[in-house]
Amino acid sequence: MTIMRRAASGVVLFLAIASVVQSAARQEAPVPDKLIVLTFDDSAKSHATYVAPRLKKLGFGGTFFITEGFDFPTNKTGYMTWDEIAGLHKMGFEIGNHTAKHANAAQQTREALTADLELIERRCAEHGLPRPVSFAYPGNEIGGIVVEVLKERGYRFARRGGAPEFPYEGGQGIAFDPRQHEPLSIPSAGDARPAWKLEDFVRAVSQAKDGKIAVLQFHGVPDREHPWVSTEPEQFERYLSYLKDNGYTVMALRDVAKYLGRP
Ligand SMILES: [Zn+2]
Repeated sequence: MTIMRRAASGVVLFLAIASVVQSAARQEAPVPDKLIVLTFDDSAKSHATYVAPRLKKLGFGGTFFITEGFDFPTNKTGYMTWDEIAGLHKMGFEIGNHTAKHANAAQQTREALTADLELIERRCAEHGLPRPVSFAYPGNEIGGIVVEVLKERGYRFARRGGAPEFPYEGGQGIAFDPRQHEPLSIPSAGDARPAWKLEDFVRAVSQAKDGKIAVLQFHGVPDREHPWVSTEPEQFERYLSYLKDNGYTVMALRDVAKYLGRP
């Protein structure tokens, strides 16, 4: 009887240890405080001429979400060339998919959305860039079959805006909590507006704590083609200085993979 009990408790102990080892192997890295993701939408010329060199100098990462929408094909003073986009990749930045036409993806048919994703994927391949794993919802419009199509095409991350938690206009949002949010619907903690003050930026980034990552959305710096979401370089410098002076870590969206504990 005693022997049997000992044997049984030994098995229980072994199973307990095995389960601890297994869960430790599966465990994702803990999310440190002050972890920021910077994202830049709409292929603005200033991404290549100003934003990327500034980030690089500070040792910051970032994701540039590329679309051929608006008048990208013809207006090459307002929008980057593909050679410039390839240059961002060579500098170490992530190139993400923001679709060919910048249509409201949530209302597109499967065929139209697939074609718009494919065009950017093909351009990336033509210019020696890796196939994108990150996506940003055009116009921050979520819903429809987008998540389904993104999964099928192997996308791992998709950034939305600050809605529905906050209205679009003010550009406020919430931080990404990997315990709560799906990686294909990552909220923006802030969506920079021309009227933003430093305190608006600080409100967004200060949410990067307690296991949450603050994902920031920018457009051009400046963005003459989309003035309603433009950020002036002087203001952007204040934001960057704030991050540097306060010890923030700044990375691309793809780099959060190690905190999600999934393949
Ligand atoms: Zn956009």
